[in-house]
Amino acid sequence: MGIREAREALKLYFGYDQFRPGQEDIITNVLEKRDTVVLMPTGGGKSVCYQVPGLVMPGLSVVVSPLIALMKDQVEALLGNGVNAGYLNSSQSAKEQQLIEQQCFDGRLKMLYVSPEKLLSSGFFSFLKRLQINLFAIDEAHCISAWGHDFRPEYLQLKNLKLQFPEVPIIALTATADRLTQRDILTQLYLQDPKVFISSFDRPNIYLQVQPGQKRMEAILDFLEERPFKPGIIYCLSRKATESLATKLKEKGYNADFYHAGLSARDRERVQERFLQDNVQIMCATIAFGMGIDKSNVRWVIHYNLPKNMESYYQEIGRAGRDGASAEALLFYSLADVMTLRDIITQGESTKEQNLSLAKLDRMQQYAESTSCRRKTLMHYFGEEYPTDCGNCDICDNPPTSFNGTEHAQKILSAVARTKETVASAQVVDILRGSRNQLTLSRGYDQLKTFGAGRDVPSQDWQRYIHQLINQGILEVAYDEHGALKLTNSSQDVLFKGRKVELVKFQQLSPKEEKEKKQKKTRSGVETALFEHLRQLRKQLANERNIPPYVVFTDSTLQEIAEQRPTNRPAFLAISGVAQAKYEQYGEIFINSILTFLAQQADQNQARLKGTTHLVTYELLRQGKTPEEISEQRQVQINTVYSHIATLYQQGYDVDLKPYLSDWEYSRVKEGILRTNQTAAMKPIFEYLEGEIDYLKIRLGIGRYNRENNIA
Ligand code: ADP
Ligand code: ZN
Repeated sequence: MGIREAREALKLYFGYDQFRPGQEDIITNVLEKRDTVVLMPTGGGKSVCYQVPGLVMPGLSVVVSPLIALMKDQVEALLGNGVNAGYLNSSQSAKEQQLIEQQCFDGRLKMLYVSPEKLLSSGFFSFLKRLQINLFAIDEAHCISAWGHDFRPEYLQLKNLKLQFPEVPIIALTATADRLTQRDILTQLYLQDPKVFISSFDRPNIYLQVQPGQKRMEAILDFLEERPFKPGIIYCLSRKATESLATKLKEKGYNADFYHAGLSARDRERVQERFLQDNVQIMCATIAFGMGIDKSNVRWVIHYNLPKNMESYYQEIGRAGRDGASAEALLFYSLADVMTLRDIITQGESTKEQNLSLAKLDRMQQYAESTSCRRKTLMHYFGEEYPTDCGNCDICDNPPTSFNGTEHAQKILSAVARTKETVASAQVVDILRGSRNQLTLSRGYDQLKTFGAGRDVPSQDWQRYIHQLINQGILEVAYDEHGALKLTNSSQDVLFKGRKVELVKFQQLSPKEEKEKKQKKTRSGVETALFEHLRQLRKQLANERNIPPYVVFTDSTLQEIAEQRPTNRPAFLAISGVAQAKYEQYGEIFINSILTFLAQQADQNQARLKGTTHLVTYELLRQGKTPEEISEQRQVQINTVYSHIATLYQQGYDVDLKPYLSDWEYSRVKEGILRTNQTAAMKPIFEYLEGEIDYLKIRLGIGRYNRENNIA
C-alpha cells in the first residue's frame, strides 16, 4: 500500500479530498515503517497522520494517549466515521475491557487507544504480542520530557515499546516544539533513525486583534453582538473577575458561565461538559480552563487581561479554531494590567526568575503595541521565518501611517507635568479628553490648562500615543508608583527644545470600507439562518447519541453544508469532512432538514434562492402534494411546476414521472427527440408531433430522456 490508498482512506473515512501540507510526507514515512516524530500545532491535523496509515496497513494500531477524558470522544469520532476503534483505560469495568480485548483477537478492531498506565500494566505486552500490531502512535509525546510542564513519569517506560517490538514503527506526536522536548522524545523512546517533521506553528485561520483595554465591557458587548451563538472563551486574570464578568453577561441576556480552579472538581467537570456540548456559549475562565478539553469549534478567544508572556498567549488563543474554520483572538491591552503582572512576578519569584519573567512580559507588551503585522511578530518570537504580511490581523487590515505627532506628544507631556508626574495613563487620557469624573474633579484637574485639550482625538488613540512615547523613551512608567507616568530627559527636549516626535496613526476605515469588510466577513442572511437551523439539528443529534456536536460534523463542514445546500447523495458526499459512514448516518436527516428549511423560506417569501426553487417543489411533492396544489400554493404557473419536476428527474432526484407521463406518451416524445435531434428546445418536437402531446409532457419527456441517456 502507498500514498494512493492513503488518499482513498482519507476520503472514505474522513471525507477530505486532500492532505494538508506535511501530512502526506509524514504518512509516506510511516507507511515505509520508519520511526517518525511529528511536531505540529494544535489543529494542524496530527490525528490523520497516524489514523490514515494505521487504516491502510493490515493489523491493529495502538495509540497511547494520556488524556483519558478525551479518549472516549476520539473513539466516538472514529466509530462515527466507520472505523472500528476502541479504548482501554482505568475508567472501564473488567467486562468492558474484555469485550475490547476479544475484538482485538478477532481482528475486528483497527485502532486501539490505551492510557500509558494500561499499556504498562502487567501482562499487557504479552497480550499485544498475540496480535498483529502495525503501528504505535504516541500522542502528546512531550509528556516524556521532564523539562516540560506536562511530564508524566509513566511515559519514560514507553522505551520498552521499541525494545519489545523492534519491528513495529513508532510515530510520536506533539504540539510542543522546543528543542529539549524534541531531543527527549527521540532519545527516551529509543527511536531508530527517526525522521522529524516540524510544521509551521502558524495558525493562519485565527484573526489576531489587539484593542486598548479601556471600556472593555462595552467592547465585549459589541463583539458578542456581532457573533450570535458562536462559542468562545474570555480569559481573565482573577477568579473573581471570571465570576463578575459571567454575571454581567448573563444580565445582558447572554448564555455565559465561569470556570476557575476554586470550583469543586465536580462543578468544573459540569461546566466543561456544558461548554463542550454547546449548552453554554461563553466561558469566562482563568487560564486553568482548556487544559483537558478538546472542543474543536471554539470560534473566538478574548483576553480580558494581558497574558504574562507570548507562550501563554499563543497557547490560549490556540484553543480557538481547532477545526480549521476561521476564528478570532482579541486581546485587551492596558498598562494597568502590566502593573498587576509585574506585581505578581516581583512578589512571587526569585530574582533570577524575575528577570526572565519581566523580559518575557516586555515582549508581550511589544506584541500588543506592535505597529506591523502581528502574525509576523508572533512567528518571529517563536523563531519562525515569516516573510510576508499575513493579511489576517488588525494591523494588516488597517495599516498605520506615521505623522508628525509633536503637538500630540506635547499635550500628553504637559498633562503629565501639570499633574506633577503622579497619575497613570488612563487618567492622563481622561484629562486630555476633559472627562469629568470623580478623580479629575476631586483633584481639581478640570482647572488645568490641558484639561480637554485633546477632545478631538478618541481615547483609544491617546492610549496608543502614550504607549508609543514610552517605547520611544519620551515617557516612563513607574510601576512601583501605581503606574504613574514620569518625564524623562527626552520629554524636556520635546516640551522646550523643539524636538520633533513621529507617531503612528491607525487609520479609521471609512463607513463604506467598513461595510464592505463586514459583508465580506458575514454570510448572507439565508446562509446564516440555515447554518443556525442545521446547528440546532446537529445539537439534537449529538444529544441523542451522547456525543459532542462537533463529532457529528465540525463547524467547517456544517458551514460548507449551509453554503452548498447539498440535497442529494453525491453533492453531500462532496462536502469536505463528510465521510462515507457519516453520510449513511446523517446524510438523509440533513438533506430533509435543508429541504424543509428551503420550503419554509419560500413560504415566507423571504428570499428567492437562486437555483433552489425546484427543490421547494421537490419538498412539496414529497409531502404528497399534486402539481396543481403546488402551483396554487407557490403561486407559480403549472408549467413551471412541471418544468421543476422534469429538472428534478433529470438531476437524479427520487420523483416518479408515471403519474404525469405514461410510457406511451414518452415513446412519442422520444421519437420526436430522435427525429428532430433536440434535447432542449420543445417547439420542434411539438411541431413534429403535430400537437399530439402537449408542451408540459414534452418537457417531462425530455427530462426522462436526458436522465436515461446521461445528458446533463
Ligand atoms: P491536532 O490533533 O493536530 O490538534 P486534529 O487531528 O484534531 O488536530 O485535526 C484538526 C482538524 O483538522 C480536525 O477537524 C480534522 O478533521 C481536520 N483535518 C485534518 N486533516 C485534514 C485535511 N487533510 N483536510 C481537511 N481537514 C483536515
Ligand atoms: Zn498581519
